[in-house]
Amino acid sequence: MKYYIGVDIGGTNIAVGLVDENGRLLAKKSEPTQVERGCDALMEKTASLCVQLCKEQGKNLDEIQKIGIGVPGTVRCSTGEVMYSCNLPLERVNIADIISDKCRLPVTVLNDADAAAYGEYFVDGNKFESFVCITLGTGIGAGIILNGRIYNGFNGAGAEIGHTTLIKDGILCACGRKGCWEKYASATALIAQTAAAAEANPNSIMAGGKIDGQTAFRAAEKGDKAAERVISEYVEYVAEGLINVVNTFQPNKIVIGGGISKEGEPFISRIREYVYRYDYNRYMDKTIISAASLFNDAGIIGAALY
Ligand SMILES: [Zn+2]
Repeated sequence: MKYYIGVDIGGTNIAVGLVDENGRLLAKKSEPTQVERGCDALMEKTASLCVQLCKEQGKNLDEIQKIGIGVPGTVRCSTGEVMYSCNLPLERVNIADIISDKCRLPVTVLNDADAAAYGEYFVDGNKFESFVCITLGTGIGAGIILNGRIYNGFNGAGAEIGHTTLIKDGILCACGRKGCWEKYASATALIAQTAAAAEANPNSIMAGGKIDGQTAFRAAEKGDKAAERVISEYVEYVAEGLINVVNTFQPNKIVIGGGISKEGEPFISRIREYVYRYDYNRYMDKTIISAASLFNDAGIIGAALY
């Protein structure tokens, strides 16, 4: 059996995991990222988490094949250099060299959404020619796998499907454009839509309480009309963006990740129905659309194994 370490460096936490060649996550460890402490501290913490995890699991570093690191940002995968990250103090830093020096192991680096997509693709059985993973989170993460390889453009900056326009002159996005898909279909967007509906409908059971990504779903289950309108509209926002993906790639499979995907089949089936009704393909086989299976661990497993 071969063993790998996967690392998911996020804006809030750094998570490291020991992964075997079958994609099983054997152990995991995480710590707050503390971005304010800067790049050197971040690299030191990442390396020490990898070493600690091995020690705790009774493995020597030389039993590990490699460390794979997923980072939110643009990565030059051939060298392991992070070019830019909007959440982390990493700009033109070769983190593969730094971590490799500290841990004396080969290190690969990739974008975190690509890592998550590869993790989902791998545990799904590596079998599809084309596979897309969409993560509905703070923003929308997207990873595209074509013929077993991550496709992210000639320069590594591609697959940013969350930053394709859904509504011209719509809500301003951090990327500088207006009306990006993620401003309407991310978890953050759902929470904002729920909060607006709660304020506009004081008699709704959503009003007055704490609002999160589940609020509208739970209220709609109890027959709350305003909540049902929020969910219907949100389903359409998600599905309209997915139709763009389907019409562009006609992938074998799309998986939907992020906390909201835990709503499971009742949510996914509504999205699927809408996509199948409006996508351009009328008579050929349809793209399989399902919830992701790994949730928060996809990035660690994908980074470890890619
Ligand atoms: Zn954008």
